[in-house]
Amino acid sequence: MIYPELPFMPTDLDGKVVVITGGGGTLCAELGGALARCGAKVALLDLDLKAAETAAANICGENCDVIGLFADVLDEKTLLAAAERVKNEFGPCDLLINGVGGNHPRGTTTHDFLEKADLGDPEITTFFDLDTGGIDYVFKLNFLGVLMPTQIFARQMMGREGCSVINISSMNATRPYTRIPAYSAAKAAVSNLTQWLAVHFSRTGIRVNALAPGFLLTSQNFNLMIDQTSGHTTERAARILTQTPMQRFGEPKELVGPLLWLASAAASGYVNGAVIPVDGGFQAYAGV
Ligand code: NAD
Repeated sequence: MIYPELPFMPTDLDGKVVVITGGGGTLCAELGGALARCGAKVALLDLDLKAAETAAANICGENCDVIGLFADVLDEKTLLAAAERVKNEFGPCDLLINGVGGNHPRGTTTHDFLEKADLGDPEITTFFDLDTGGIDYVFKLNFLGVLMPTQIFARQMMGREGCSVINISSMNATRPYTRIPAYSAAKAAVSNLTQWLAVHFSRTGIRVNALAPGFLLTSQNFNLMIDQTSGHTTERAARILTQTPMQRFGEPKELVGPLLWLASAAASGYVNGAVIPVDGGFQAYAGV
């Protein structure tokens, strides 16, 4: 079936069973909608059941092949329960999108650069104040949060044709963003695991790839990017744009084409272990 917004891009996703973790979130709900419009049966898994159910209902109302289910990507029992539900309702999983990811304030520094004067200031979190609990949270969510669902759902792919896993890494995996060392390193681990899994699964026919989005404007980061009083870009957002050759943020829908290409075995059957930047040229730009 053809995704109406990209009619030049036929896909072979009709009837495929797709599981998306973090499916109630901004980007993954967008991706789930696109896959459903290509004829896939889509299960949106999320810790926030209401968000997953709302996203499913927004995609196609009540009588369609999109469901929202509860699952915690760090809790094997809930993943197994969701896997059973998906198998009973739709059949075994053909495509897993590992969409869960996020940061934690306790793994974040206040400033980009360490200044001697910041040391001891209770208002400022320096590298020395980073909390191992916050860092542990970020590593578990982003790394184990990809590994554990893959353990559960890739088992359903074994011995079947055209199955694949698509992880959501980030551009900060290759160029760590200032202030968020834990999130950057954890996403580097996601890109690394993508390659490891691609090699490990290569003789089973399961392909493993990733998308690495750059700065996409979503409701979550809108306030960080756009000043609410002036409506102009914030200072950090302006710096991002000077580092982005295309001089604009991305839109969630701009992940759809690369996703459909990676998801379609007919289109990208020999692509394995790739981490595809979707970043307006951010990664390629040295700034001079
Ligand atoms: P989001 O915060 O909108 O969605 C994340 C979803 O994951 C939420 O619905 C949340 O409830 C769910 N979740 C959190 N912990 C969970 C858990 N333990 N188990 C199951 N579900 C859980 O995020 P988003 O902005 O749509 O980002 C999606 C992915 O894209 C993430 O991996 C993120 O790191 C990555 N990414 C986003 C951007 C961006 O600009 N938004 C850029 C690069 C990479």
